[in-house]
Amino acid sequence: MTDTTRAGIGLDFHRLTEGESLVLGGVEFDHHKGTVAHSDGDVLVHAICDAILGAASLGDIGVQFPDDDPAYKDISSMKLLKKVLEKVDVKGFNLLNVDSTLIIQEPKLGSSRAQMTENLEDLLGIPVNVKATSTERLGFIGRGDGVGAQAIAVLEKEESSE
Ligand code: MG
Repeated sequence: MTDTTRAGIGLDFHRLTEGESLVLGGVEFDHHKGTVAHSDGDVLVHAICDAILGAASLGDIGVQFPDDDPAYKDISSMKLLKKVLEKVDVKGFNLLNVDSTLIIQEPKLGSSRAQMTENLEDLLGIPVNVKATSTERLGFIGRGDGVGAQAIAVLEKEESSE
């Protein structure tokens, strides 16, 4: 990395509850449980938002989009990600790449993983990688009571803004 290249990490978890909707990477899943959240609870997109904000020293998603602000009630997290991209652009950063891992026991992602990747690449305009792991049925994620995600983003400062 050069001195104009910055990396950021993101980590997020959400509770899964009967009857809520489950959206991951902008894909809605047909599953009996979904995330409990102020927004649509897209844990993968939240981790990516935090990674990008972290690389730009812009705090985190809770700072930028407070969960007591009615403007963000049930908002699509993909819309929040677009706003994040605008914020880092204003600070003179270009996004170079994003890598991410969903930590989920069920449902199995199957072909939805390719759709998540496509959704994210279309919105961000850079290469995005979406990986997935279970916790081998250990802990709250393994019991299907929660879902998690982590992400890393690399940004480059535009030379003209140095
Ligand atoms: Mg979250």
